[in-house]
Amino acid sequence: MDATFTLLQKALPGLQKNILLKNYTSFKIGGPAEYFLVTHNKNTIIKAIALAKKIQIPVFVLGGGTNLLVSDKGVKGLVVKIENHHPIAQKNNSCIEAGAGVLMKSLVSFSVEKSLQGLEWAGGLPGTFGGAIRGNAGAFGGETQDSILEVEALDEHLQVKKLNNKRCQFSYRNSVFKEKKWIVLSAKLQLKKGDKKELGRLAASHIAYRKQKHPLEYPSAGSVFKNVDFKKIPARFQTVFLDKVKKDPFEIVPAAWFIIGAGLTGKKIGRAEVSKKHSNYIINLGGAKATDVLKLIALVKKQIKKKYGIVLEQEVQFLK
Ligand SMILES: Cc1cc2nc3c(=O)[nH]c(=O)nc-3n(C[C@H](O)[C@H](O)[C@H](O)COP(=O)(O)OP(=O)(O)OC[C@H]3O[C@@H](n4cnc5c(N)ncnc54)[C@H](O)[C@@H]3O)c2cc1C
Repeated sequence: MDATFTLLQKALPGLQKNILLKNYTSFKIGGPAEYFLVTHNKNTIIKAIALAKKIQIPVFVLGGGTNLLVSDKGVKGLVVKIENHHPIAQKNNSCIEAGAGVLMKSLVSFSVEKSLQGLEWAGGLPGTFGGAIRGNAGAFGGETQDSILEVEALDEHLQVKKLNNKRCQFSYRNSVFKEKKWIVLSAKLQLKKGDKKELGRLAASHIAYRKQKHPLEYPSAGSVFKNVDFKKIPARFQTVFLDKVKKDPFEIVPAAWFIIGAGLTGKKIGRAEVSKKHSNYIINLGGAKATDVLKLIALVKKQIKKKYGIVLEQEVQFLK
């Protein structure tokens, strides 16, 4: 008899036990969540988090599971998966409001449909709106922060607050929500009027680029490492990578070039492999364990440090 489960289930109808997280992550890796709740409702999110805190069990908020490597042993406590808990709405001519669980894919389609410019860079970006805000997701020179007007979030004292763009403290793949573990509930985007056909063409070109260049035919969590700030590359290697510098959003060298340079492309541990199509992706060849991926990550970090004196920072989060 699991008294905690009984107590939680009473307050949170629909709560499940021992749910395999591999089925809720893009990596298709991960053991069970002790307690698991899918919710579409803001009040339920708040209630679930408040209750977990009260009975002192760990609580983790899951979006699309596209930036996560979950331990093979699974996760103790409660995992709350936020799904589209309130629909996308156009507030005035060029402002959109959406819930944290809305998929970025739906948000991009909606903005294009309404001839609103500003989200085309996110064509093909997986995951939820909440996940993108928390990590200030970006691609093709654009970032989530570029069009955020206001974010509604739950803080560590379970207070709901509204933050303007500045108070979100966005930086490269970071925000106040990540730093302080605040939960994004919903947000408003300020977009501009644009040409529907042109916006659709741009978003589709990014989707096509991803299909061509990224190993989307295998489960993964996207880029494993953050790109490297050009200024942080030791002077003797700056000239080597000069023709690889990109502005995204500041001057960086894609981490993939260091992995290629260290001869690690195609390196395999167990059923995990450094992708031959895009060296900053680790792919699951089928049946990979989190331990395989962790060993591969450690190996890549060690070799890059040895060869280039650079400490690669992980973009993918390990959940245990
Ligand atoms: C094929 C592929 C391509 C990718 N390409 C890119 C890319 O181009 N650019 C890029 O930046 N990323 C990319 N990613 C990584 C990933 O898609 C993004 O980081 C995405 O924004 C994560 O959102 P999610 O909903 O999946 O978050 P999850 O993976 O579910 O969670 C990630 C973290 O966010 C937290 N979180 C989730 N929802 C909330 C919320 N509502 N409030 C607070 N915290 C929350 C979780 O607790 C966790 O700590 C890619 C991933 C894949 C698989």
